[in-house]
Amino acid sequence: MDAAPAERLDRFMGRANAAYYATHDPFADFTTAPEIAQAFGEILGLWAAVTWDLLGRPDPVLLVEAGPGRGTLLADALRAIGQVAPGFAGALSVHLIETSPRLRAAQAAALPAGWAARATWHDDLARVPEAPLLLLANEFLDALPIRQFLRDDAGWTERHVADGAFVTRPAPVEEIPLGEIPTGEIIEVCEAAHAFVGALAARLARHPGAALLLDYGPATPATGDSLQALRAGRPADPLAAPGEADLTAHVDFLALANRARAAGAAVHGPLAQGVLLTRLGLFQRTDRLARGQPPARAAGLIAAARRLAEPHRMGRLFKALALCHPDCPTPPGFEP
Ligand code: SAH
Repeated sequence: MDAAPAERLDRFMGRANAAYYATHDPFADFTTAPEIAQAFGEILGLWAAVTWDLLGRPDPVLLVEAGPGRGTLLADALRAIGQVAPGFAGALSVHLIETSPRLRAAQAAALPAGWAARATWHDDLARVPEAPLLLLANEFLDALPIRQFLRDDAGWTERHVADGAFVTRPAPVEEIPLGEIPTGEIIEVCEAAHAFVGALAARLARHPGAALLLDYGPATPATGDSLQALRAGRPADPLAAPGEADLTAHVDFLALANRARAAGAAVHGPLAQGVLLTRLGLFQRTDRLARGQPPARAAGLIAAARRLAEPHRMGRLFKALALCHPDCPTPPGFEP
C-alpha cells in the first residue's frame, strides 16, 4: 500500500475552509441570498417572529444564526422584527455561531444600532445557552467538511488528499454504515452536519423552538462527488490551493431530516427555496420596496427576487428544512 502522508478529505476541507474564512472576504468569491436581496433576511426574520408566536411566545428567547457571513441576513431580519414584531424584539437575545474572527467583526459592524453590543458570539452550538430558541442558517451546512467513500470491485475505500491530489485508503467500514451503491460510485457523509443537526434537534425536543435551515442539495438521496471550490468567483480545483478557495458540498437533506427526527424534533420539508420564499411573501415585500424607486432600481429589486425564487436559478436547487419542537404547529410556509 502507498504510504505517502495523506490527509482524510474532511480534515483537509475543515482546515482549508477555516484558513479561507479567517483570511478572505468570502463574498469576493461568491454571493448568497441575503447579499442578493434584503427581502430575504426580512422575511426570514418575520418567519422567526411568527413561529415564536406559534410556540406560545417564550420569553426570554434566543435568536441564533449559524454561519452569519457578513451579518446581512441577521441585520435585515432584526430591522424587520423591530418594525413589525416588537414583542419578539423585546424578548430576544442575539447569538451568532461563527469561528472566523474576521467575519465576527464584519457581523458586529452590520447589526443595526444597539444590537451588536447585546449580541454574543460562539464557536459552536454547544456553547449557546440552553433556552428556547429560533435558529436561522443559510449556506452554513454546505461549508462543513465531508468524507467521500468510493465503491469499487474490491469494496469500499475512502478519499484522502496528498500533494494536491486524491488518494484512496481502505474505508473503516466497521465504523461507518455505507449501504449499497453501484461499483464506481461515490457517497458523501458530512459528520459535522449530522452532529450539528442532531444537537440542534435534541435542544428543540427539550425547549420550545424552531430552526430554518436553507442550503443547496438534492431532495432525494444522490451519489457522486459534489465537492466544489470557488476562487475569485470562478470554479477552481478544490485540492489545489487550500485556504484560497471556498469549499462546499451538497447538503443531504433527507439524511439530516432523519437525524433530526431520531433526536426528537418535528421536521417539515425539505421544500424548494422558491416555494417557501414565494409563500412567505417575497414578491409582495419586493413590490413594496420597489414602489417609488427609480425604474432601474425597482427593476433590480424585482430581478433579485426572481433570482432567488425561480426554479431554474436558485429556487429549486436550494431547499429549506424546518425543525421544530414536537408541539409546535406547522411553521409558516410549510403547510402541506
Ligand atoms: N450565511 C451567510 C454566509 C455563508 S458562508 C450568507 O448566507 O451569506 C458560511 C459561513 O459559515 C461563514 O460565516 C463561515 O465563517 C461560517 N462557518 C463555516 N464553517 C463553520 C464552522 N465549522 N463553525 C462555525 N461557522 C462556520
